[in-house]
Amino acid sequence: MKTQCFTPAEIAPAAEILRRGGLLAIPTETVYGLGADGLDPVAVTHIFEAKGRPQDNPLILHVPSADWLTRYCEDIPDTAYVLTRRFWPGPLTIILKHKPLIPDVVTAGLPTVGMRCPAHPVTRAIIERADRPVAAPSANTSGKPSPTTARHVLDDMDGKIDGVMDGGPCSVGVESTIVDLTVTPPRLLRPGGVTLEQLRDVLGAVEVDPAVTRLMSPGEKPRAPGMKYRHYAPNAPVTVVKGDPEETARYIACASDQGSGIICFDEFQPLFPGRVVETIGSADDEAAQARHVFDALRAFDSTHVKQIWSQCPPDEGIGLAVANRLNKAAGFHIIHLKK
Ligand code: AMP
Ligand code: MG
Repeated sequence: MKTQCFTPAEIAPAAEILRRGGLLAIPTETVYGLGADGLDPVAVTHIFEAKGRPQDNPLILHVPSADWLTRYCEDIPDTAYVLTRRFWPGPLTIILKHKPLIPDVVTAGLPTVGMRCPAHPVTRAIIERADRPVAAPSANTSGKPSPTTARHVLDDMDGKIDGVMDGGPCSVGVESTIVDLTVTPPRLLRPGGVTLEQLRDVLGAVEVDPAVTRLMSPGEKPRAPGMKYRHYAPNAPVTVVKGDPEETARYIACASDQGSGIICFDEFQPLFPGRVVETIGSADDEAAQARHVFDALRAFDSTHVKQIWSQCPPDEGIGLAVANRLNKAAGFHIIHLKK
């Protein structure tokens, strides 16, 4: 299959791919998605094939506005509209009960579905034009870091999908925040672009699913199927070092060798001569870290590094999402340096 590249001037032919059951990679403010008509079970099956994604990992449905929620969801709580008024379009996915028209392959057979309205205007225009909800996971090979440019998408998907819309680099850089509104209190299933602090500001109590900050033990049943899979991982094993940035930088400088790759905050790069270094932003700029973390993880796959050491922000603000992605890339192999 030849993968076509579209520019934002080409909304109509891109939407046509979705209408005829094809696969289209779409830009969003978080990461690139791999989209298909969310009401067409055959089209959605092709997403799983292209990604090598396990069938029991559900997809998010993308809509152009909160007005579409009643088409696909029922028993919608008021909290849903409180959140959509405040954060849509934007990096927030809400879990709601779905209507019977949503195919099982989208929801992995769950009674619930993840709904999101992305902030990228080109993608909203494509969805409007296609007049279909677009089922889309991240447009990477399953298990790999998520793509934040059209180039990353092609690295994984060239020849496997019908097209990619190039909407430029993603402005947030980590996936959407997922909050389950079918339970009381609402529960954070994945930290992302909308922070836990922002959610609590609007909703009051929000629980954090244990899988956000630690590895699930073998007998434990995950709340969302995706939580049980290894994620975001480059080829080389990753070790995350948490603690004061000066100390973690010094620790990694001692522990690493010439064959190591390093993910560090900008200001510590001079500590790692002779290593393959990816900087992700300064220690106090978590938004920059979110924009660069997947690009950094991906970059090591074109090098020969044997292992990767990474600094990590504290679990606050969007730092919680950055730390979550790094921890998962490391399979929760984390060294905590005490103060
Ligand atoms: P991605 O495939 O990277 O876009 O991520 C989609 C995420 O949404 C996965 O972690 C899924 O497990 C999660 N998800 C989608 N639908 C649901 C749902 N109904 N309940 C819980 N999690 C969901
Ligand atoms: Mg993904």
